[in-house]
Amino acid sequence: MELARATNRSVRMRNRGALLTKLFLDGPLTRQDLVRSTGLSQPGVSNVVSDLIEEGLVAEAGAAESDGGRPSMMLRIAPRFAFLAGVDVGETRVRVELFDFAMTLLASVEYPLDPARTEPAEVAGHVLAGIDAVTGTAGVSPTDVLGVGIGVSGVVSQGEHAVVHAQALGWDAVPLERLIAAGTDLPLHIDNGAKTLGQAEMWFGAGKGARHAVFALVGSGVGAAVVAGGATYRGASSSAGEWGHTTLVYGGRQCRCGARGCLEAYVGAEAIIDRYREARGGRPVPGEDEESQLNALIEAAAGSATARRVLDETAAYLGAGVANLINLFNPERVVLGGWAAMALGDLLPAVREAAGRQALRQPYEQASIELCRLGVDAVALGAATLPVARFLADGGVRR
Ligand SMILES: [Zn+2]
Repeated sequence: MELARATNRSVRMRNRGALLTKLFLDGPLTRQDLVRSTGLSQPGVSNVVSDLIEEGLVAEAGAAESDGGRPSMMLRIAPRFAFLAGVDVGETRVRVELFDFAMTLLASVEYPLDPARTEPAEVAGHVLAGIDAVTGTAGVSPTDVLGVGIGVSGVVSQGEHAVVHAQALGWDAVPLERLIAAGTDLPLHIDNGAKTLGQAEMWFGAGKGARHAVFALVGSGVGAAVVAGGATYRGASSSAGEWGHTTLVYGGRQCRCGARGCLEAYVGAEAIIDRYREARGGRPVPGEDEESQLNALIEAAAGSATARRVLDETAAYLGAGVANLINLFNPERVVLGGWAAMALGDLLPAVREAAGRQALRQPYEQASIELCRLGVDAVALGAATLPVARFLADGGVRR
């Protein structure tokens, strides 16, 4: 009897989770759409939907277009059921964004970081101040925030409290979750920034519909998220996808991780700017930060053969790195994102060509190489989906 009740409950939770996920990713939809796409029975869908409407998770959104017969009602996620905070802890800034439950951006705030010395306590302080700032701006009570997702550049070990290892920042087992939790009761979800970017692109962007994809993040540093069979591949301790530290040139340029010849030491923004400075005979590249220096290089390439050569080499290195991803993972799609990749978007045809020269023909021909669709802030958006993913997996019940 107890067992039967428990089983009924878990079936009900699974059905709720399935319907909510469908509405979250593909809504608005009608009840009939939900029957078709989830394989649940008509009465099953109707029952769960009336519960969800009553609880305020789902709302009716007008009648669907209909060619005769009784029009059916569109259903969608109720935007004001709950709110989500998404945080991007990059090397040069902490960005905090607030979304409603339909993932519409309501408010955002940014705090610059000094890349030369990024103190964990300072980062935690910015995250907490940012949550206060965005909820204040949007007029949302913090108690209505379902959770805070945080994307960090570095390896994130999940445990009772997430711990961050970021060699490039000098972070060795930093208890970031504990530092932030000291100042808030909101549920925290921390993951690697390339993985949160990948999740955003899988749910809402260039990865939608793909089962096998690699999301490559090129900013100051370089990382990747590998999605295999629809799920992020994590490895033994969650560090899988450290594409930036795969070897491109054995014994090559010094990388920030301590090794030589890593891909990041050639195509990370800092490395591109270093290569340009060296090509200019050591003359500093104009611009006060990496973003403006990279833009100075891109502008100079129209008239300077030196700048052009640095960009052409960057495309070739990046293409070789993409070819490695294609040969290793046989993805349907490789999606290039991150602020530097987006600034270098005009190099995409050259990157494709270089990847074609290096990759095996068969996997190369069935893989597309694209730019991300969600823009530079997708790390924070993806981070905000972390509490949603947990909520959906729990059948749409707050823990
Ligand atoms: Zn490295």
